[in-house]
Amino acid sequence: MTNQLPIAVIGAGMSGIACARMLHQHNVPFRVIDRGRVVGGRMASRRIRESGTAFDGHITDIGASYFTVQDPDFATVVNLWIDTGVAREWTDAFHVATPAGISGIRTGPMRYSATNGLRSIIEHQAEILPTELIQPSTQVAAVSVQEDHVVVDGEPFSAVAVCVPDPQAKQFIDAALASTHEILNQIDWEAVIAVTAVFEPDTLPKFDGIFVNEHPVLTWIANDGHRRGNEDPVVVAHVHPELAAQYLTDPAGVIPQALDALLPILGLTEHPQWSSAMRWTFAKPTSARPELYSFDEGNRIGLAGDSWAGGPKVEAAWKSGHELGVHLAQWWN
Ligand SMILES: Cc1cc2nc3c(=O)[nH]c(=O)nc-3n(C[C@H](O)[C@H](O)[C@H](O)COP(=O)(O)OP(=O)(O)OC[C@H]3O[C@@H](n4cnc5c(N)ncnc54)[C@H](O)[C@@H]3O)c2cc1C
Repeated sequence: MTNQLPIAVIGAGMSGIACARMLHQHNVPFRVIDRGRVVGGRMASRRIRESGTAFDGHITDIGASYFTVQDPDFATVVNLWIDTGVAREWTDAFHVATPAGISGIRTGPMRYSATNGLRSIIEHQAEILPTELIQPSTQVAAVSVQEDHVVVDGEPFSAVAVCVPDPQAKQFIDAALASTHEILNQIDWEAVIAVTAVFEPDTLPKFDGIFVNEHPVLTWIANDGHRRGNEDPVVVAHVHPELAAQYLTDPAGVIPQALDALLPILGLTEHPQWSSAMRWTFAKPTSARPELYSFDEGNRIGLAGDSWAGGPKVEAAWKSGHELGVHLAQWWN
């Protein structure tokens, strides 16, 4: 069998789609499998559906907030996204706050966003891939290794590119593959709950984003209207990982605490007209390996994602998946 069979790419987030693009460009047969209904993974955007309201239809980034660019190869790709209008420069200055309120402004690298939400970037990336090679709504439950191929839920593949968070990969990779599990156990991951709040028009102070320090409830507040490039009064606040971990079975339960923390920082007294919560059990690795990816040639298992390439960020996920795709294409040919 071996290389007659396609390569399975598990995960249709930034790393999996970057990997699949490389396989596609090198004419390597592949199939992308994702448990979600749509591509994007943690670059998740959701359209608010509240008919009759002014904010009906607003697209909100409920996963990653923005991305930064350092790597020259990633910069080339991002420039193409900007040229086609998919991505846009957002800002290089965010406010800083403590529980007492906003304490200053900090300039840093340019942060990029997307007019139609960050997920639209992954959709754009996936456009060159034949749609029949992307299999949504399919949760992989078992990956095991035979003598000359890999078995994904009973189906043979020549190799597998595992492009999902390490704790999720551990759930489906055969426990007998001890060296793979050793790698997947190296890094801890933390939770985040993203609370979206829609306020009355023209009530928000002027800000793009706020890093919240030394706060037991919040770590970050984004002005999602500014991020989109419009003035919609939509805010996304990220709940501190330690608190988020306590609400994973009831994410909406943390909304009152999140709002009690959010209002004084923004200098508001009126509660939002609408709110919701999104849970990320494995939001981010707490550290990342400097290596770009791993490929166990004996077992034909590749690992990529934002716990590689110096992560934990969008750029690292792209770099990791892209480079694993390049490696697998060479291995195949
Ligand atoms: C709340 C939050 C805020 C963030 N903020 C930022 C930020 O501001 N800047 C930044 O650069 N990065 C940020 N990140 C991190 C960024 O989102 C990630 O680094 C990047 O999106 C990771 O891409 P990935 O492809 O490695 O993983 P993912 O996007 O997680 O993709 C993995 C995919 O695998 C699928 N999957 C998982 N298990 C299975 C299974 N068993 N079977 C089939 N499919 C499966 C999932 O559905 C998912 O689509 C943030 C993340 C979160 C959650």
